[in-house]
Amino acid sequence: MSGPKTVVCPFCGFGCRLLVDPETMKVKPHRGEPNRGKLCPKGLHSTEFVLSGDRVKRPLKREGSRMRPVSWGRAIDEISAKLLEIRELYGADAVAFLASSKVSNEENYLLQKIARLFGTNNIDNCARLCHEASVHALKMTVGAGAQTNPYADLEGFGAILIWGYNPAETHPVVMDYILRARKNGARIIVVDVRKTRTMAFADYGLIVRPGTDITLANAMMNVIIREELHDEDFVRGRTTGFSEVRMAVRKYTPEYAEKITGVPAGVIREVARTFALAGSGAVMWGMGLTQHVSGVENVMAVIDLALLLGYIGERGGLYPMRGQNNVQGAAYMGALSEFLPGYVPLTDERFRKRVAKIWGVEDLPTERGLYLTELWEAVERGDLRALYVVGENPAVSEPNFMEVRRALRKLDLLVVQDLFMTRTARYAHYVLPASAFCEKSGSYMNSERRIQWSQRVCEPYADSRPDWEILTDLGRALGLPGFNYSSVEEITEEYFRLFPSLEERSVEELKNGDGIFLPRKRLHTWEFATPDGKARFIAVEQVGPWERPDGEYPFILTTVRVISHYNTGEMTLRSPSLLRLMGEPRAVINRDDAEKLGIREGDWVEIETRRGRIRMRAGMGDVQPGLIAVPFHFKANRVTSPALNKAGTPEFKFAAARIRKL
Ligand code: SF4
Repeated sequence: MSGPKTVVCPFCGFGCRLLVDPETMKVKPHRGEPNRGKLCPKGLHSTEFVLSGDRVKRPLKREGSRMRPVSWGRAIDEISAKLLEIRELYGADAVAFLASSKVSNEENYLLQKIARLFGTNNIDNCARLCHEASVHALKMTVGAGAQTNPYADLEGFGAILIWGYNPAETHPVVMDYILRARKNGARIIVVDVRKTRTMAFADYGLIVRPGTDITLANAMMNVIIREELHDEDFVRGRTTGFSEVRMAVRKYTPEYAEKITGVPAGVIREVARTFALAGSGAVMWGMGLTQHVSGVENVMAVIDLALLLGYIGERGGLYPMRGQNNVQGAAYMGALSEFLPGYVPLTDERFRKRVAKIWGVEDLPTERGLYLTELWEAVERGDLRALYVVGENPAVSEPNFMEVRRALRKLDLLVVQDLFMTRTARYAHYVLPASAFCEKSGSYMNSERRIQWSQRVCEPYADSRPDWEILTDLGRALGLPGFNYSSVEEITEEYFRLFPSLEERSVEELKNGDGIFLPRKRLHTWEFATPDGKARFIAVEQVGPWERPDGEYPFILTTVRVISHYNTGEMTLRSPSLLRLMGEPRAVINRDDAEKLGIREGDWVEIETRRGRIRMRAGMGDVQPGLIAVPFHFKANRVTSPALNKAGTPEFKFAAARIRKL
């Protein structure tokens, strides 16, 4: 009997490692980094969905309204022939590939390689929906689109500012680090639109009106600059653009900000001083900042705040907290339509030619591809004819999803590679059964940029196959060079060659240790990743939202996460233990609003926006008047706003809505 296998948790971007017993499939926490013997309920019950009886067993092909089994060989041959035919007729950009933040680095690497060798940069992943706004803001300010420090640094900082982020529900094990920091004397400040579980552990909990974050951040900077609490040496020596920010925040007095944000001026002053005088600090943020039309600017505002205090490197860190277990890896592997691996722009000729050479071709396409959120209009225009989806579920995860479903129906070819017959798979011409996380091995990158090896625990279910094997066959059938991998390690070695800091590292080292940081543990310690080595302050003004409440739709609908569920629910809704923990989903409203509308706890309500309606039970909670907080996991995207920010991230956090008792 073999002992437990070490596996990366298939859920959030914190990247806990699990010890899974191959005999019983029971899970225990790994004692090493990063989770140090801790797991949340999702990790603990993570093998339950794998064992659920409704996995896709064998490749399926659409024949009329029915899906019929087909052999692997025939499925791959027919799919590749159709993709080549579409390229011949309409060009390579008529095809798009959707990668997954849940599959391994190797699998994301292969899919973007297929897309680019096929001739298109139409390759994207769901980072677009969550933290692409962070990537854009980080690239423009500090030059690298990723978290700057490891989690362990949190324990030594003097203050932690948690903005639009609720780790107690979304990354429960991060809370352990935050609580240890608190025990070590750190002041914890939480900014959110509702009283979250995380706020219960904070020294300051600021409830801000939805969509007014920039005003609050600018007001904090106003106080810090006016009281000369900023780090003059750091600002002068390591940044540019400070005078523009100083000018821009002048009008954002705490009294002015109070009128807009609802946060009392005295509290703004006290919190700004507390954060500035802590001497070191982290800014952690989540989708409460990014999923707005002002998402890029929101993130820039909190980065400005950190730069002002020199909270970078040894004295602080920027923590855009990632949602899915390999969203950081998918982005680093180049599964984004505007970046090559390592977030290198497509226009960087030297790197592009280097990648091309490793792949055995002269050059790669240079035009930015379609963002995930732009695919649907491209289908409507007739520009996009085929979509190949690995492990994503856009028919539920995209905003205003009825439009997405209409677009999916119009495709000449839709291929879905997944574990389950997802909502998206129901529109597919071919469904290819993929193996689950514990049925294959490979590497994953967590939010702190730690690459970790995940071992195979058990045999693939039925006729399913690891995604990398399917993609290797597809690449070969498409006639692309170099698709002759016989082990996942060969792909790991190939992507290691792309990154200078990994060139000297080995797969064995990755398998045997606590992971490898890419490119290193801490970024920007001496110089920033910008052309001149300095960080750029970028002054930002409050913008958005896209639609405001009015007489017809007087409420604001925002989407939130709950601890026991995950994204579109395809995994967690198949876990009996997690279903028991969560109970029925609730749309949470303010008690006074509920009383005015005659709604009581547990009543069925209908929530309507200009896109459509959803029904759910009502819950009473600590949300501010006028707000409806709806769990994201239960088809909320039928009603969310289709507005996008500069990075293509949708405004999931703000839609004008109305609510009535049924
Ligand atoms: Fe998995 Fe995240 Fe929970 Fe850790 S905190 S067990 S990575 S879901």
